[in-house]
Amino acid sequence: MRCPQCGSSNHRVEVSRPSMNDHVIYRYRQCKDCHRRWGTYEVLLDYFDKDAYKQLLIDFGEW
Ligand SMILES: [Zn+2]
Repeated sequence: MRCPQCGSSNHRVEVSRPSMNDHVIYRYRQCKDCHRRWGTYEVLLDYFDKDAYKQLLIDFGEW
């Protein structure tokens, strides 16, 4: 995963899993080089296969 703005792979990640909805995972990221913030939104497509997450890249902008 690289920063969409500067291409750096140097970023920190915070993982958030909404407690009432455990088949969705948000990963909030901030680039350590240009401080751009963005996030990914992962959806579990098959509830019985925990590895079947589909990762969607969503730009949250200034969260
Ligand atoms: Zn960056």
